Amino acid sequence: MPELPEMENYKILLNQKLLGRLISNVQINREKSINVLPQVFIQNVQGQKIITIQRRAKHLLFLLDNGQVLLLHLMLGGWMYFGSKEDKPKRTIQVQLSFGEEHLYFIGLRLGYLHIYQTTEEVDKELADLGPEPLESDFTLGAFRELVNNRRGRIKTKLIDQQFLSGIGNCYSDEICYHAGLLPKRGLEELQMNETVQLYQSIQFVLHDAIKHGGYMDNPLYKNDTLTGGYNELCKVYDREGESCTRCGTAIVKEMISSRKTFYCPNCQK
Ligand SMILES: [Zn+2]
Repeated sequence: MPELPEMENYKILLNQKLLGRLISNVQINREKSINVLPQVFIQNVQGQKIITIQRRAKHLLFLLDNGQVLLLHLMLGGWMYFGSKEDKPKRTIQVQLSFGEEHLYFIGLRLGYLHIYQTTEEVDKELADLGPEPLESDFTLGAFRELVNNRRGRIKTKLIDQQFLSGIGNCYSDEICYHAGLLPKRGLEELQMNETVQLYQSIQFVLHDAIKHGGYMDNPLYKNDTLTGGYNELCKVYDREGESCTRCGTAIVKEMISSRKTFYCPNCQK
């Protein structure tokens, strides 16, 4: 499932492509992907310009010039492609937003969705349960220490808990623990001060690094997109069971933690 870096990468690239562009046509092929009747969705979206695209946790928000907002969550298996009809991936398209001869294709939206809201306030209400954004400037070391203070639970489990901290999922929680040299099954409550500091720094480093390298999505966002997916080969532990740790050479281990696949180095993570 795309996590914060994947959605941030989409946000940056789509803003370059779509800012101020008019949505000339809307096509709904799967009614379950939206939250209103197709004709209502089309009536509200067609003819609108995209003012900006923002990210919150693993969501993207498309702000329209009528004040309405499209809220996207790709969930498991969802992705996007932007291009002409000729470039269109040979996949089933659930929703299509057209910008003249170019189209934004929403693909693999089975659990994922593109919902419409009348105002940004409505979206805020919808997302009110989400924890702090780890890359916002107000998420300081002090704020992280306060968050961790008196909280119990395994590091892995807490990192992917969207009410604790937003945007981190199965892959980056493992990569963050690896970078921090911490075992994902350790309890937050047993971390020493220096380990908490390291964990905070690793969250910052890994997420920024992943954004810089385009995240781990398998498919490019558009033709000749060389950025998206660049982090795939840079993952150190995720999905690398049996491979050698790049730090110490020990074989990476896979283990289930809270029924989540978890990958780590049993030697250099303590
Ligand atoms: Zn190692």
